[in-house]
Amino acid sequence: MNKRRGELIVLSGPSGVGKSTVISELLSSRRDIHFSVSFTTRLPRVGEENGVNYNFVSRQEFERMIADDELLEYAEYVGNYYGTSLKIIREQLDQGVDVLLDIEVQGAAKVKERCPEAVLIFLIPPSIEELSRRLHRRNTDAEDVIERRLEKARQECRESIHYDYLVVNDAVVSAAGEIMSILAAEQCRTSKCIHLTQSIVGNE
Ligand code: ADP
Ligand code: 5GP
Repeated sequence: MNKRRGELIVLSGPSGVGKSTVISELLSSRRDIHFSVSFTTRLPRVGEENGVNYNFVSRQEFERMIADDELLEYAEYVGNYYGTSLKIIREQLDQGVDVLLDIEVQGAAKVKERCPEAVLIFLIPPSIEELSRRLHRRNTDAEDVIERRLEKARQECRESIHYDYLVVNDAVVSAAGEIMSILAAEQCRTSKCIHLTQSIVGNE
């Protein structure tokens, strides 16, 4: 039987909607999924670790990676670069491992262009007021940064129509559960299971 290639899963959503929180919940049940650690020029927040949350690099190093074509996609977001390593993703997918990216909307559009089979999921907050509360409660950004992130959130939510699935992050466990259901359904797509039919009917 053919070994399947890994699934490329993209999760986007406005800053503070709860992407990291939902991803932790998801990965605690789905330990077989590889979380892609992005490269960024932003400074680490309190509690963030290099190589775990992000690979923190200088602007000069990031621009070298762009020039050497090392990134699957990259984007500038609120004054900083963020990008995904092409080599690491390709290695995991080739080994049949599912890979999860937490990236913003411009990067997600580039991934869909380069990898049309990727599954794009958009996480939305129950309301803009709740998003503002979460950004304030997280207590990691200055008020002007929060304002810029809220403004950007409105633009980003408009882009959600280009995604394959929308998940509301009301309760973390339910949101992670819905993502697991989406992944289970994706595994059963006829186009992805064609080898199962071929093993029964042959290659006629
Ligand atoms: P993101 O990764 O999207 O920027 P975080 O995961 O850092 O967002 O979450 C932002 C804040 O919102 C954190 O303080 C987190 O604990 C909180 N949070 C996340 N999901 C929920 C939820 N479903 N209900 C209430 N608070 C949440
Ligand atoms: P934060 O600074 O809150 O960690 O992330 C800001 C935004 O950058 C989030 O929307 C997050 O999804 C996005 N992001 C994180 N890593 C990448 C990446 O590798 N590429 C792109 N395009 N966006 C990323």
